[in-house]
Amino acid sequence: MLAALAMMPGAWNSAGATKLRATDMRIGVHTDRTRFVLDLSERVDFKIIRLGNPYRLVIDLPELEWRLQDRPRPKSVGLIKGLRYGRFSRDISRVVLDVSGPVAVRKAFLLPPAGDKRYRLVLDLIQTDARQFIAGLTRPPAPPPSGKAGRPPIRLVPPGRKPRQPGAKPALKVIAIDPGHGGVDPGASGSRGVLEKTITLAVARAIRKKLEANGGYKVILTRNSDIFVRLRDRIAIARQAGAQLFLSLHADAIRRRGVRGLSVYTLSEKASDKEAGDLAKKENKADLIAGIDLSTESSEVTNILIDLAQRETMNQSVLFAGNLVSELRAVTKLLRNSHRFAGFAVLKAPDVPSVLVEMGFLSNPKDSKALRQRHFHARLAGAIERAVNGYFSRIEQARRSGP
Ligand code: ZN
Repeated sequence: MLAALAMMPGAWNSAGATKLRATDMRIGVHTDRTRFVLDLSERVDFKIIRLGNPYRLVIDLPELEWRLQDRPRPKSVGLIKGLRYGRFSRDISRVVLDVSGPVAVRKAFLLPPAGDKRYRLVLDLIQTDARQFIAGLTRPPAPPPSGKAGRPPIRLVPPGRKPRQPGAKPALKVIAIDPGHGGVDPGASGSRGVLEKTITLAVARAIRKKLEANGGYKVILTRNSDIFVRLRDRIAIARQAGAQLFLSLHADAIRRRGVRGLSVYTLSEKASDKEAGDLAKKENKADLIAGIDLSTESSEVTNILIDLAQRETMNQSVLFAGNLVSELRAVTKLLRNSHRFAGFAVLKAPDVPSVLVEMGFLSNPKDSKALRQRHFHARLAGAIERAVNGYFSRIEQARRSGP
């Protein structure tokens, strides 16, 4: 469920010399309402979107710099149960408020500068009931494209791989590295404020460096900045680049701080165990966290692609996962049952062998420390390069001895 609620007239804050900054946010509880305030350096246009299932309120703003005061963010106050903020797409910054139930926005306005305050975006939320909430909804607008604008939809035919000219140099093999989370979706968080989205991007860049130095690979990243990318777009980016392998990077955090170790996942509708199933559920929530209404998403990824998942792609994914486990075992501690299966949305390309690596636990002091260090990123990258090399030599061997 989704409703565009308020849109101030005029264009987004035009790209001028002054950079828009968000400098603070507060929540205040009054007897009849919960007030959310965001301090901003400039006058802005904003858009509010209400979402159901679960109930959320999304505030879309022009691209801005987050320079919030260094103090704990309010978590659960009044009608607001939680909040996230960050970059949503190239031009949109987003605040997502998790609300305790159906709410209405009684007022939403921008206060002009007064005293030592610059502009303040003020939202007054009041409780309503589900019926009124639903009645206020209109047909959802098309979801904004994330990443590159105007990306064509997913093709269901495998990306073309041009036949090689005799005597020509072998074409570079294309590898897609997918740094999990990003922008408004931080992923898991550990002590010292370390965020999964930061770690995954740093490791992805280390892998790219290592693979490109090899000379046989072209590496594309599904994101190369702190930006939100929808799960289905990550697959689309890889397929459009003609990727022959897809590697998604993540790091988990759980309550039991003693648990550590890396694990490797391939796609399966039936999870290998409850833990793997729960983890896939958690990772698949990325779009929800960023305030995207899953019920309006086209079902092409969730249904058709999974039905089309070819046995060969699955076998190749399993082969690559096996290589990863044996190479990574040499450089880091692995979790028990280090290769598992579960229904990760991001692994659902029918024609690109895809593997997801949970590089460790940010909730564990040892894993968290290692994952913050560049030399550990380089060690992971080295092991992954060996696994990729091994994978392609096995594939080529099979091709030569094939029918
Ligand atoms: Zn993750």
